[in-house]
Amino acid sequence: MEPRTALETAARLIYRFLMNSIFANLPTTIFETMSLLARETGAVNLGQGFPDDPGPEDVRRKAAEAVMDGWNQYPPMMGLPELRQAVAAHYARFQGLDLDPAGEIMVTSGATEAIAGALMALIEPGDEVVLFQPLYDAYLPLVLRAGGVPRFVSLEPPHWNLTKEALARAFSPRTKLVLFNNPLNPAATVFCDADLALLAEFCIGHDAIAVCDEVWEHVIFDGRAHKPLMALPGMRERTVKIGSAGKIFGMTGWKVGFVMAPPPLMRVLAKAHQFLTFTTPPNLQSAVAYGLGKEDSWFSEMRAGLQRSRDRFEAGLKACGFVVLPSEGTYFINIDLAASGINEDDAGFAQRLVREFGVASIPVSAFYAQDAVTTVLRFCFAKHDATLDAALERLRRVL
Ligand code: GLN
Repeated sequence: MEPRTALETAARLIYRFLMNSIFANLPTTIFETMSLLARETGAVNLGQGFPDDPGPEDVRRKAAEAVMDGWNQYPPMMGLPELRQAVAAHYARFQGLDLDPAGEIMVTSGATEAIAGALMALIEPGDEVVLFQPLYDAYLPLVLRAGGVPRFVSLEPPHWNLTKEALARAFSPRTKLVLFNNPLNPAATVFCDADLALLAEFCIGHDAIAVCDEVWEHVIFDGRAHKPLMALPGMRERTVKIGSAGKIFGMTGWKVGFVMAPPPLMRVLAKAHQFLTFTTPPNLQSAVAYGLGKEDSWFSEMRAGLQRSRDRFEAGLKACGFVVLPSEGTYFINIDLAASGINEDDAGFAQRLVREFGVASIPVSAFYAQDAVTTVLRFCFAKHDATLDAALERLRRVL
Protein backbone atom coordinates (compact mmCIF):
# COMPACT_ATOMS: atom_id res chain seq x y z
CA MET A 1 0.00 0.00 0.00
CA GLU A 2 1.35 3.44 -0.96
CA PRO A 3 2.00 5.86 1.94
CA ARG A 4 -0.57 8.65 1.99
CA THR A 5 0.95 11.24 4.29
CA ALA A 6 4.41 12.72 4.77
CA LEU A 7 4.47 11.04 8.16
CA GLU A 8 3.73 7.66 6.62
CA THR A 9 6.47 8.21 4.04
CA ALA A 10 8.97 9.07 6.80
CA ALA A 11 7.91 6.06 8.85
CA ARG A 12 8.30 3.76 5.86
CA LEU A 13 11.76 5.15 5.10
CA ILE A 14 12.86 4.74 8.70
CA TYR A 15 11.59 1.18 8.67
CA ARG A 16 13.27 0.38 5.36
CA PHE A 17 16.58 1.77 6.47
CA LEU A 18 16.62 0.24 9.90
CA MET A 19 19.50 -2.06 9.19
CA ASN A 20 20.63 -4.88 11.39
CA SER A 21 21.18 -3.15 14.69
CA ILE A 22 24.34 -5.03 15.62
CA PHE A 23 26.20 -3.84 12.55
CA ALA A 24 24.43 -0.49 12.14
CA ASN A 25 25.55 0.56 15.60
CA LEU A 26 29.17 -0.48 15.20
CA PRO A 27 31.93 2.04 14.77
CA THR A 28 34.55 1.49 12.05
CA THR A 29 37.25 -0.81 13.45
CA ILE A 30 39.96 0.91 15.46
CA PHE A 31 42.58 -0.53 13.06
CA GLU A 32 41.08 1.17 10.02
CA THR A 33 40.48 4.37 11.99
CA MET A 34 44.05 4.63 13.24
CA SER A 35 45.59 3.71 9.87
CA LEU A 36 43.50 6.43 8.19
CA LEU A 37 44.54 8.95 10.83
CA ALA A 38 48.19 7.93 10.37
CA ARG A 39 47.91 8.52 6.61
CA GLU A 40 46.19 11.88 7.10
CA THR A 41 48.71 13.15 9.62
CA GLY A 42 51.82 11.53 8.15
CA ALA A 43 52.36 9.68 11.43
CA VAL A 44 54.55 6.60 11.86
CA ASN A 45 51.94 3.85 11.88
CA LEU A 46 52.50 1.42 14.76
CA GLY A 47 48.75 0.88 15.11
CA GLN A 48 47.29 -1.78 12.82
CA GLY A 49 49.37 -4.96 12.99
CA PHE A 50 51.22 -5.52 9.73
CA PRO A 51 54.93 -5.79 8.97
CA ASP A 52 56.95 -3.31 6.89
CA ASP A 53 58.62 -6.23 5.18
CA PRO A 54 57.01 -7.40 1.91
CA GLY A 55 57.20 -11.09 2.95
CA PRO A 56 59.36 -14.02 1.77
CA GLU A 57 60.29 -13.54 -1.86
CA ASP A 58 60.14 -17.22 -2.82
CA VAL A 59 56.57 -17.51 -1.50
CA ARG A 60 55.52 -14.36 -3.37
CA ARG A 61 57.17 -15.66 -6.53
CA LYS A 62 55.26 -18.94 -6.24
CA ALA A 63 52.04 -16.95 -6.05
CA ALA A 64 53.02 -14.87 -9.10
CA GLU A 65 53.87 -18.00 -11.07
CA ALA A 66 50.59 -19.58 -10.04
CA VAL A 67 48.70 -16.51 -11.24
CA MET A 68 50.43 -16.64 -14.62
CA ASP A 69 50.70 -20.35 -15.25
CA GLY A 70 48.29 -21.99 -12.83
CA TRP A 71 44.61 -22.50 -12.31
CA ASN A 72 42.57 -19.31 -11.90
CA GLN A 73 39.11 -20.86 -11.72
CA TYR A 74 37.32 -22.04 -8.59
CA PRO A 75 39.45 -24.37 -6.54
CA PRO A 76 37.76 -27.14 -4.52
CA MET A 77 35.53 -25.71 -1.83
CA MET A 78 37.52 -27.30 0.99
CA GLY A 79 40.78 -25.88 -0.38
CA LEU A 80 43.47 -27.18 -2.74
CA PRO A 81 44.37 -30.77 -1.80
CA GLU A 82 48.07 -29.80 -1.88
CA LEU A 83 47.45 -27.06 0.68
CA ARG A 84 45.41 -29.30 2.96
CA GLN A 85 48.24 -31.85 2.80
CA ALA A 86 50.76 -29.11 3.57
CA VAL A 87 48.71 -27.88 6.53
CA ALA A 88 48.53 -31.41 7.97
CA ALA A 89 52.27 -31.93 7.51
CA HIS A 90 53.03 -28.51 8.97
CA TYR A 91 51.05 -29.06 12.17
CA ALA A 92 52.43 -32.59 12.54
CA ARG A 93 55.96 -31.16 12.28
CA PHE A 94 55.53 -28.15 14.57
CA GLN A 95 52.78 -29.11 17.00
CA GLY A 96 52.62 -32.90 16.92
CA LEU A 97 49.01 -32.88 15.67
CA ASP A 98 47.61 -35.74 13.62
CA LEU A 99 45.10 -34.16 11.24
CA ASP A 100 43.40 -35.86 8.31
CA PRO A 101 43.74 -33.55 5.28
CA ALA A 102 40.64 -35.07 3.70
CA GLY A 103 38.18 -34.64 6.54
CA GLU A 104 39.67 -32.34 9.17
CA ILE A 105 41.17 -29.37 7.31
CA MET A 106 39.47 -26.58 5.36
CA VAL A 107 40.96 -23.49 3.72
CA THR A 108 39.21 -20.16 4.35
CA SER A 109 39.65 -16.56 3.22
CA GLY A 110 41.55 -15.57 6.32
CA ALA A 111 41.08 -16.49 9.96
CA THR A 112 38.26 -13.97 10.29
CA GLU A 113 36.17 -15.98 7.83
CA ALA A 114 37.02 -19.16 9.72
CA ILE A 115 35.85 -17.56 12.98
CA ALA A 116 32.68 -16.11 11.43
CA GLY A 117 31.86 -19.42 9.80
CA ALA A 118 32.49 -21.40 12.97
CA LEU A 119 30.23 -19.11 14.99
CA MET A 120 27.46 -19.23 12.36
CA ALA A 121 27.74 -22.99 12.09
CA LEU A 122 27.95 -23.90 15.76
CA ILE A 123 25.78 -21.41 17.64
CA GLU A 124 22.05 -21.83 18.05
CA PRO A 125 20.23 -18.65 19.15
CA GLY A 126 20.38 -18.43 22.93
CA ASP A 127 23.53 -20.50 23.32
CA GLU A 128 26.04 -18.98 25.71
CA VAL A 129 29.50 -18.18 24.40
CA VAL A 130 32.43 -17.56 26.73
CA LEU A 131 34.65 -14.70 25.53
CA PHE A 132 37.86 -13.42 27.04
CA GLN A 133 38.49 -9.69 27.38
CA PRO A 134 40.54 -8.10 25.90
CA LEU A 135 38.93 -9.59 22.81
CA TYR A 136 39.61 -9.09 19.14
CA ASP A 137 37.07 -6.58 17.89
CA ALA A 138 35.39 -8.92 15.38
CA TYR A 139 34.44 -11.55 17.97
CA LEU A 140 31.52 -9.95 19.78
CA PRO A 141 29.51 -8.68 16.79
CA LEU A 142 29.90 -12.07 15.11
CA VAL A 143 28.79 -13.94 18.23
CA LEU A 144 25.78 -11.64 18.64
CA ARG A 145 24.82 -11.90 14.95
CA ALA A 146 24.92 -15.68 15.30
CA GLY A 147 22.45 -15.36 18.19
CA GLY A 148 24.98 -16.19 20.90
CA VAL A 149 24.74 -14.79 24.41
CA PRO A 150 28.19 -13.51 25.45
CA ARG A 151 29.61 -14.32 28.88
CA PHE A 152 32.81 -12.40 29.49
CA VAL A 153 35.92 -13.38 31.38
CA SER A 154 38.02 -10.27 32.01
CA LEU A 155 41.77 -10.73 32.04
CA GLU A 156 43.87 -8.18 33.84
CA PRO A 157 47.29 -6.73 33.14
CA PRO A 158 50.13 -7.37 33.59
CA HIS A 159 49.64 -11.21 33.48
CA TRP A 160 46.27 -11.46 31.74
CA ASN A 161 45.98 -15.03 33.07
CA LEU A 162 42.94 -17.25 33.66
CA THR A 163 41.57 -17.97 37.10
CA LYS A 164 39.27 -20.73 38.22
CA GLU A 165 36.93 -18.19 39.84
CA ALA A 166 36.61 -16.12 36.67
CA LEU A 167 35.90 -19.20 34.54
CA ALA A 168 33.40 -20.51 37.07
CA ARG A 169 31.49 -17.20 36.86
CA ALA A 170 31.34 -17.31 33.05
CA PHE A 171 30.56 -20.98 32.36
CA SER A 172 27.04 -22.28 32.92
CA PRO A 173 24.94 -25.28 31.86
CA ARG A 174 24.04 -23.23 28.76
CA THR A 175 27.65 -22.75 27.63
CA LYS A 176 27.93 -24.01 24.07
CA LEU A 177 31.19 -22.58 22.95
CA VAL A 178 34.36 -20.81 24.05
CA LEU A 179 36.20 -18.44 21.70
CA PHE A 180 39.82 -18.41 22.76
CA ASN A 181 42.78 -16.50 21.30
CA ASN A 182 46.25 -17.79 22.11
CA PRO A 183 48.77 -16.11 21.81
CA LEU A 184 46.55 -13.25 22.86
CA ASN A 185 46.22 -10.07 20.82
CA PRO A 186 46.47 -7.31 22.14
CA ALA A 187 47.95 -8.53 25.45
CA ALA A 188 50.93 -10.07 23.60
CA THR A 189 50.93 -12.98 26.05
CA VAL A 190 51.05 -16.74 25.65
CA PHE A 191 48.80 -18.71 27.98
CA CYS A 192 50.77 -20.99 30.30
CA ASP A 193 50.22 -24.75 30.57
CA ALA A 194 48.22 -24.37 33.77
CA ASP A 195 45.83 -21.91 32.10
CA LEU A 196 45.33 -24.24 29.14
CA ALA A 197 44.68 -27.19 31.43
CA LEU A 198 42.17 -25.14 33.44
CA LEU A 199 40.32 -24.06 30.30
CA ALA A 200 40.27 -27.63 28.97
CA GLU A 201 38.83 -28.80 32.30
CA PHE A 202 35.99 -26.26 32.02
CA CYS A 203 35.30 -27.09 28.34
CA ILE A 204 35.13 -30.81 29.09
CA GLY A 205 33.14 -30.32 32.30
CA HIS A 206 30.55 -28.21 30.46
CA ASP A 207 30.66 -30.21 27.24
CA ALA A 208 31.57 -27.04 25.34
CA ILE A 209 33.30 -26.57 21.99
CA ALA A 210 36.52 -24.54 21.96
CA VAL A 211 37.06 -22.34 18.92
CA CYS A 212 40.76 -21.47 19.09
CA ASP A 213 42.08 -18.51 17.16
CA GLU A 214 45.76 -19.44 17.08
CA VAL A 215 46.84 -17.15 14.26
CA TRP A 216 49.87 -15.98 16.27
CA GLU A 217 51.10 -19.54 16.92
CA HIS A 218 54.38 -18.99 15.06
CA VAL A 219 55.02 -15.51 16.43
CA ILE A 220 56.28 -16.37 19.91
CA PHE A 221 59.54 -15.42 21.51
CA ASP A 222 62.26 -16.38 23.98
CA GLY A 223 62.27 -20.05 22.99
CA ARG A 224 58.59 -20.67 23.70
CA ALA A 225 56.75 -23.48 21.91
CA HIS A 226 53.10 -23.11 20.93
CA LYS A 227 50.71 -25.55 22.61
CA PRO A 228 47.43 -25.95 20.74
CA LEU A 229 44.44 -26.40 23.07
CA MET A 230 43.37 -29.17 20.69
CA ALA A 231 46.30 -31.30 21.86
CA LEU A 232 45.15 -31.42 25.50
CA PRO A 233 43.54 -34.65 26.72
CA GLY A 234 39.82 -34.69 25.97
CA MET A 235 39.98 -31.67 23.65
CA ARG A 236 40.65 -33.26 20.26
CA GLU A 237 36.99 -34.00 19.53
CA ARG A 238 35.68 -30.64 20.75
CA THR A 239 38.20 -28.15 19.37
CA VAL A 240 38.15 -26.02 16.24
CA LYS A 241 41.67 -24.73 15.60
CA ILE A 242 42.20 -21.73 13.33
CA GLY A 243 45.48 -20.63 11.72
CA SER A 244 46.52 -18.01 9.18
CA ALA A 245 49.15 -17.82 6.45
CA GLY A 246 48.96 -14.03 6.67
CA LYS A 247 50.49 -14.13 10.14
CA ILE A 248 52.87 -17.04 9.50
CA PHE A 249 54.45 -15.36 6.46
CA GLY A 250 53.90 -11.76 7.47
CA MET A 251 51.65 -11.00 4.50
CA THR A 252 48.49 -9.91 6.25
CA GLY A 253 46.66 -8.97 3.06
CA TRP A 254 46.70 -12.50 1.67
CA LYS A 255 43.75 -13.67 3.74
CA VAL A 256 44.47 -17.37 3.50
CA GLY A 257 43.34 -19.11 6.67
CA PHE A 258 42.82 -22.72 7.64
CA VAL A 259 40.48 -24.37 10.06
CA MET A 260 41.02 -27.75 11.65
CA ALA A 261 38.29 -29.73 13.39
CA PRO A 262 37.15 -33.31 13.94
CA PRO A 263 34.89 -34.57 11.10
CA PRO A 264 31.49 -34.11 12.82
CA LEU A 265 32.28 -30.44 13.46
CA MET A 266 34.03 -29.94 10.11
CA ARG A 267 30.98 -31.12 8.17
CA VAL A 268 28.97 -28.24 9.64
CA LEU A 269 31.80 -25.68 9.32
CA ALA A 270 31.98 -26.53 5.62
CA LYS A 271 28.27 -25.69 5.22
CA ALA A 272 28.87 -22.17 6.54
CA HIS A 273 32.00 -21.71 4.41
CA GLN A 274 30.23 -22.77 1.23
CA PHE A 275 27.90 -19.78 1.48
CA LEU A 276 30.32 -17.26 2.97
CA THR A 277 33.26 -17.16 0.56
CA PHE A 278 32.98 -20.68 -0.93
CA THR A 279 36.66 -20.65 -1.99
CA THR A 280 39.91 -18.73 -1.60
CA PRO A 281 42.20 -17.63 -4.49
CA PRO A 282 43.89 -20.84 -5.75
CA ASN A 283 47.19 -19.15 -6.63
CA LEU A 284 47.66 -17.87 -3.08
CA GLN A 285 46.71 -21.31 -1.79
CA SER A 286 49.43 -23.03 -3.80
CA ALA A 287 52.02 -20.47 -2.69
CA VAL A 288 51.00 -21.04 0.94
CA ALA A 289 51.28 -24.82 0.43
CA TYR A 290 54.85 -24.25 -0.73
CA GLY A 291 55.59 -21.86 2.16
CA LEU A 292 54.31 -24.17 4.91
CA GLY A 293 56.89 -26.70 3.75
CA LYS A 294 59.82 -24.34 4.23
CA GLU A 295 62.66 -25.65 6.37
CA ASP A 296 62.55 -25.23 10.17
CA SER A 297 65.27 -22.59 10.03
CA TRP A 298 63.03 -20.17 8.09
CA PHE A 299 60.49 -20.24 10.91
CA SER A 300 63.07 -19.83 13.66
CA GLU A 301 64.76 -16.97 11.80
CA MET A 302 61.42 -15.26 11.28
CA ARG A 303 60.84 -15.39 15.04
CA ALA A 304 64.37 -14.28 15.80
CA GLY A 305 64.00 -11.28 13.49
CA LEU A 306 60.76 -10.22 15.17
CA GLN A 307 62.27 -10.81 18.60
CA ARG A 308 65.15 -8.49 17.68
CA SER A 309 62.64 -5.82 16.66
CA ARG A 310 60.75 -6.34 19.90
CA ASP A 311 63.94 -5.96 21.93
CA ARG A 312 65.02 -2.84 20.05
CA PHE A 313 61.63 -1.17 20.46
CA GLU A 314 61.20 -2.27 24.08
CA ALA A 315 64.60 -0.83 25.02
CA GLY A 316 63.70 2.39 23.19
CA LEU A 317 60.35 2.70 24.98
CA LYS A 318 62.04 2.20 28.33
CA ALA A 319 64.66 4.82 27.47
CA CYS A 320 61.77 7.23 26.75
CA GLY A 321 60.51 6.57 30.29
CA PHE A 322 57.54 4.33 29.49
CA VAL A 323 56.67 1.32 31.63
CA VAL A 324 56.45 -1.64 29.27
CA LEU A 325 54.41 -4.84 29.71
CA PRO A 326 56.10 -8.09 28.68
CA SER A 327 55.61 -9.16 25.06
CA GLU A 328 55.78 -12.95 24.75
CA GLY A 329 54.32 -13.20 21.26
CA THR A 330 52.38 -11.42 18.45
CA TYR A 331 53.59 -8.28 16.63
CA PHE A 332 52.73 -6.16 19.64
CA ILE A 333 54.08 -4.61 22.79
CA ASN A 334 52.07 -2.62 25.32
CA ILE A 335 52.88 0.27 27.58
CA ASP A 336 51.19 0.82 30.92
CA LEU A 337 50.08 4.45 30.81
CA ALA A 338 49.19 4.77 34.48
CA ALA A 339 52.49 3.28 35.60
CA SER A 340 54.26 5.60 33.15
CA GLY A 341 52.71 8.59 34.94
CA ILE A 342 50.16 9.35 32.19
CA ASN A 343 46.76 10.03 33.67
CA GLU A 344 44.83 10.29 30.42
CA ASP A 345 42.78 7.34 29.22
CA ASP A 346 44.22 5.26 26.39
CA ALA A 347 41.77 6.44 23.70
CA GLY A 348 42.44 10.13 24.36
CA PHE A 349 46.17 9.57 24.68
CA ALA A 350 46.27 7.60 21.40
CA GLN A 351 44.55 10.52 19.64
CA ARG A 352 47.02 13.00 21.09
CA LEU A 353 49.96 10.74 20.27
CA VAL A 354 49.04 10.54 16.61
CA ARG A 355 48.02 14.19 16.18
CA GLU A 356 50.64 15.95 18.32
CA PHE A 357 53.57 13.54 18.20
CA GLY A 358 53.03 11.67 14.93
CA VAL A 359 52.87 8.08 16.16
CA ALA A 360 49.80 5.88 15.62
CA SER A 361 49.03 3.19 18.21
CA ILE A 362 45.99 1.19 19.31
CA PRO A 363 44.18 1.86 22.61
CA VAL A 364 43.61 -1.51 24.26
CA SER A 365 40.19 -0.39 25.58
CA ALA A 366 38.96 -0.96 21.99
CA PHE A 367 39.23 -4.68 22.77
CA TYR A 368 36.67 -4.57 25.59
CA ALA A 369 32.89 -4.79 25.49
CA GLN A 370 32.47 -3.83 29.15
CA ASP A 371 34.58 -2.70 32.12
CA ALA A 372 37.42 -1.72 29.81
CA VAL A 373 41.02 -1.48 30.93
CA THR A 374 41.84 2.09 29.80
CA THR A 375 45.47 2.36 30.86
CA VAL A 376 47.23 0.25 28.22
CA LEU A 377 48.40 1.27 24.74
CA ARG A 378 49.49 -1.18 22.01
CA PHE A 379 52.30 -0.65 19.51
CA CYS A 380 53.20 -2.86 16.54
CA PHE A 381 56.95 -3.51 16.39
CA ALA A 382 56.95 -5.71 13.26
CA LYS A 383 58.75 -2.93 11.40
CA HIS A 384 62.13 -2.08 9.96
CA ASP A 385 64.62 -0.58 12.40
CA ALA A 386 64.35 2.80 10.66
CA THR A 387 60.57 2.86 11.23
CA LEU A 388 60.93 1.92 14.90
CA ASP A 389 63.69 4.47 15.40
CA ALA A 390 61.63 7.22 13.73
CA ALA A 391 58.76 6.41 16.10
CA LEU A 392 61.06 6.38 19.14
CA GLU A 393 62.52 9.74 18.11
CA ARG A 394 59.00 11.16 18.31
CA LEU A 395 58.05 9.26 21.48
CA ARG A 396 61.09 10.67 23.29
CA ARG A 397 59.33 14.05 23.43
CA VAL A 398 56.20 12.74 25.16
CA LEU A 399 57.18 12.38 28.80
N1 GLN B 1 44.95 -8.21 13.43
C1 GLN B 1 45.33 -6.84 13.20
C2 GLN B 1 45.69 -6.15 14.48
O1 GLN B 1 45.40 -6.61 15.55
C3 GLN B 1 44.25 -6.00 12.58
C4 GLN B 1 43.42 -6.59 11.50
C5 GLN B 1 42.46 -5.57 10.98
O2 GLN B 1 42.85 -4.46 10.68
N2 GLN B 1 41.21 -5.91 10.93
O3 GLN B 1 46.26 -5.09 14.41
